[in-house]
Formats: sequence, C-alpha cells, structure tokens
Amino acid sequence: MPIRWRLTLWFALILCGILGLSGTILYLLVQRDLTNQIDDNLSLYSAQVHGTLNPSSLPPINEFASPGVYIQLIDRDGNVVVKSDNLGEQELPVNPSLIARGFAGSVDIQTVSAGHDAKLRVMVSLLYLQDQTLLLEVAQSTSYIDSTLIQIRWGIVVSVLVALSLTTILGGGVVRRALLPVRRITQTAESIETSPDLSQRVGYRGPMDEIGHLAATFDDMIERLDRAFKSQQEFVADASHELRTPLTVIRGNLDLLKRNLSEADRKESLRALESETARMVKIVNDLLLLAEVDSGPLLEPEPVKLKEILEEESARIRPLAGTRKIIIGRQENLVTRGNPQQLKRLVGNLLDNAVKYTSEDNDITLSLFREDGWACLKVSDTGIGIAPQHLPHIFDRFYRVNQIRSRIRGGVGLGLALVREIAGRHGGRVTVTSEPGKGSTFTVRLRI
Ligand code: ADP
Repeated sequence: MPIRWRLTLWFALILCGILGLSGTILYLLVQRDLTNQIDDNLSLYSAQVHGTLNPSSLPPINEFASPGVYIQLIDRDGNVVVKSDNLGEQELPVNPSLIARGFAGSVDIQTVSAGHDAKLRVMVSLLYLQDQTLLLEVAQSTSYIDSTLIQIRWGIVVSVLVALSLTTILGGGVVRRALLPVRRITQTAESIETSPDLSQRVGYRGPMDEIGHLAATFDDMIERLDRAFKSQQEFVADASHELRTPLTVIRGNLDLLKRNLSEADRKESLRALESETARMVKIVNDLLLLAEVDSGPLLEPEPVKLKEILEEESARIRPLAGTRKIIIGRQENLVTRGNPQQLKRLVGNLLDNAVKYTSEDNDITLSLFREDGWACLKVSDTGIGIAPQHLPHIFDRFYRVNQIRSRIRGGVGLGLALVREIAGRHGGRVTVTSEPGKGSTFTVRLRI
C-alpha cells in the first residue's frame, strides 16, 4: 500500500479513536448527570410525601404527582393501596428485588422496564401508616434522558463519519502534496538509471523541511556525480592523449630505424626512443600512483619522521639542482602517520618543480615546523612564479601553465595533482602563493 494511503489511514483511525473516546466520555457524563437530576427529583418528591405524613390518613399523593411523575403506595403483599391519578388504570411495574430491598428498610433507586421501550426510574422508601408498613414508590419516566442520549449517540457516529471522510479526502490531498517531491526524486533517479544523462535535477522549490533537504541533498549528490563522471571522462581522454604523443614519436623512430640510417641519425633516434619511453614510464607510474592514492583511505598508516624525508629528498635533488642554492630553513622533529613512500613522493614532486621552474642561481628554501597543531612543510623558490589566473588550476590533473616548457623539463602535469591527493589522503591540504617573476611557495599541512 502506498505510504500516502498508509499515512492517511493512520490519521483517520487516530482521529476516529480520539473522537470515539471523547464522545463516549461525553455520553457517560451526560447520562450520569441526567440520571442524577431525576434521582434528585425523586428524592424531593419522596421527601415531600413523607413530610405530609399523617399517621391516621393516606398522604395526598396527587398533590405531588405531575406529568411524568407517578406515585404509588403498596403493602407487603404487593397490593396497591393508593396511586396517583395520572397512572390511570395502570400500576407501576413490579421489580421484586427493589421492592424486597425497600421493605428491608433501605431507600433505593433503580431503573425499571415498563414494557415496550419505556423505562421508569423508581425510588422506594418505607412509610408507616397506623399499624401498617407500606412502601412508597415514586417514579419518573426516563424517556427524555433516552431521547437526549440517542441524539448524542447519533452525533458521535455522524461526527466520526464526517471526520473519517474529511481526513481521507483532505488529509490524503495534503499528504500527496507533501510527498510530491519524493515522487519527483524517484522519477529523476529512475530516468538517470535508465539513461546515462546526469544533467537532470529534481529542482525542488519550497520550504526547506525534511523533504526539501532530501531533494536538495539528492540534487547535490547528482551534481557531484555529474562532475566526477565528467572529470573522469576528461581524465581518460587527457591520459590517452598524453600517452599517444610519446607513442607516435616511438613509432616514427622505429620506422626510421628500419631504414639505413647514418650512425649519428641512428643514435639520435635511439636517444629519442629512450627519452619518450622514459616519459611514458613516468606517466604510467604517476597514473598508477594516482589510482592507488584515489582508491580509498590509507591502509595501515605508520609513524613517518618528516625531517628524515626532507633530508633524503634534498640530498636526492642536490645533484640535479646545479648552481641553485638549496637552503634548509627551520626544521623541527615532527612525526605524522601515513604512507612514507607517498609522503616522499609529495616532497619530491614539490622539490622537482622548484628546480624545474627556477633558473640557475635561484634559491630553494625548505622548512618544516609546527603551526596551529599542524606539521607545516614549506617549499619556496625564487623562480618564474605562476600567474594568478593559473593558480586555481595547477593542482588539476594534466594542467600545465606552459605545455612546452613543462615538456622540455620532463613534466607530465601530474606532479601537483599527486601532491594534492597525497596530502588529502593524509588528512591534510596543500596551498600555494606565487608571484610571477618572483617565485612560489607551496605549503603542505599534515596532521601530527
Ligand atoms: P608538471 O609536470 O608540468 O610540472 P605539475 O602538476 O607538477 O606538472 O605542475 C603543474 C604546473 O604548475 C606546471 O606546469 C607549472 O607551470 C606550474 N608549477 C608547478 N610548480 C611550480 C613552481 N615551483 N614555480 C612555477 N610554476 C610551477
């Protein structure tokens, strides 16, 4: 059964329950109150009859009888001694237990059936006349109570039925409207499932209640999926493109080598083959590392001494740095938890770039210190710098400010992407400040 009908049904049932219960309570209260009114009346009449009692003569009961109020006196054998005129030919109905209780001395009241649907409320009390003990019966018809109670019963039934139909119609409509966005979410999800078109959105406009949040979250999720899907496609296209260039060079040179080349040309071709193969190896290795870093949270992180990594990497870069000065700035003994190979790669890539994008005689400064509870690793250089419009993109995969310059220096555009992914995977982040012509500073913050 759809949730709309289930909710509506529950509402209707609960409302009927509440109405039924309060109706029953009202019914019982009215019934008790009206019966009490009759009982008070009967006591009053009974007291009046007793008040006029004269031991020598029968009480003038017709003075107290009124329409609907009947009075009668009976003796121990059940014979009527006297009765009010309004009883006519009839006598008050006999209820043996009530009469027995009355003759036993108790003043008692009971509802007694008077044939058909009629009922009488009868009060009995003992009355002594000369040497006789008589039973005074004062009775009043309960017909007006019964008709009031029947009206209340009908009122309850009708209001329950009206409430039931109104909640079903109106409540159903309200629930349907409230659940409309959920239907739209389902439809959008279904159409995304059947076609790979991730551009569809629920486009919810309305109050930001639970369902509004659900619709907005769903749209955000599809937006992120869409972006991830597109960047995945771009990434595959970029990667294929990057691999195709060295492959073309390799194929061309292999063709050349099949011919009769001079020794110098042959060496040149082999050199080209070597460098393009090395380039492909670098691309493939970087892609593999990216895939590994992308694959999820770190498995078995271990304590990593960042200072040791800095020392090892600066020692590796020194022979490649030529006349550039590698300056070791502040260096604190800081330990993070993570994957030492990946962290080495992070520092190595930043240092490689610092060398690649500075000219000889420039300075490269390395520092490691604690700041605001993070381990801060800074690599700054006094090289060519990066123009502001490129800064937001340099951490993107395959993004290069200057294709040719990067290629000449052996870059494939994955170095900073790896730095960002590795930092992110270690719960940290990387930022950059740079000024064209003056140099750049990359800061990596890692947890300690
Ligand atoms: P590449 O393989 O081209 O070096 P990276 O991802 O390492 O790729 O860097 C992306 C781009 O950012 C580079 O092409 C370069 O233009 C710029 N870049 C990176 N580091 C520096 C730096 N220290 N100084 C100036 N430019 C830099």
